[in-house]
Amino acid sequence: MATLGIPQNTISILQKYQFVFQKKYGQNFLVDTHVLEKIMDAAEITKEDCVVEIGPGIGTMTQYLAERAGAVVAVEIDKKLIPILEETLAAYDNVTVLNEDIIKVDLNRIVEERNGGRPVKVVANLPYYITTPIIMSLFENRVPLKSVTVMVQKEVAERMQAGPGTKNYGALSLAVQYYAKPEVVANVPPNCFIPRPNVGSAVIRLTRYEEYPIAVKDENLLFALIRASFNQRRKTLANSLSNAANLSFSREQVAAALEEMQLFPTVRGEALTLAQFAELADLLS
Ligand code: SAM
Repeated sequence: MATLGIPQNTISILQKYQFVFQKKYGQNFLVDTHVLEKIMDAAEITKEDCVVEIGPGIGTMTQYLAERAGAVVAVEIDKKLIPILEETLAAYDNVTVLNEDIIKVDLNRIVEERNGGRPVKVVANLPYYITTPIIMSLFENRVPLKSVTVMVQKEVAERMQAGPGTKNYGALSLAVQYYAKPEVVANVPPNCFIPRPNVGSAVIRLTRYEEYPIAVKDENLLFALIRASFNQRRKTLANSLSNAANLSFSREQVAAALEEMQLFPTVRGEALTLAQFAELADLLS
């Protein structure tokens, strides 16, 4: 039975193993059964699912996942947690724990080996220091995915969901929205974790598009344009793109493309939708 969502049970396990939290690994363990249930509901876990959990910690969410999913593969970097996970997950025969760094592990191979290459669901209370690299590598490496349901810092969830013209809109919004439909499903206060993080948290579900709604000739150019536009956010697009070190467009070329799109030459990147960035990439490619 899943028992670790109750604070007292988490505290006893931590004391039994004299566990010392590693700040560098972003260790904030969830201790709230309502939040755990909410994550399971948002991810719509069923016995048909193979779930990849990133950073199982002492196995709190892993217990919930093991009860609902067909199979769970949990990737944990901290070797001190491995003996703890052996105890807390002993009752489940559908869980595999891998003592690996999620940034270095080949998830495509894991999905091939554990789920015959069929799409998996990723569910996690993410280590906040590497949220963006984790999410981007899942999408960019084309890991077969149905959805990614994760706890992240509240501001990061807002950035992923933001639209043009808002202060949170940026390269992360556009990159995530190219691949998936984002939906914040819960806000989670610091007192739901041990130890308490000093930022608010939110659960976001990213449902991967089966077919990307935005078509573009050169995906690499699209993302290079997006990065260059938001590197120099306050500059006009014509300036930031023509100044970018990794692009070779003149100010005139960018201005001509913007004119063709019926946009003012003074427009900034923060005003463009994803579809407009794709159109610009096609015109410049
Ligand atoms: N899932 C647990 C929970 O909800 O209580 C723990 C979540 S805690 C926010 C993040 C977890 O990710 C920690 O267990 C930490 O050791 C692990 N972690 C940090 N960096 C990692 C990495 N590069 N690869 C795999 N796991 C990592």
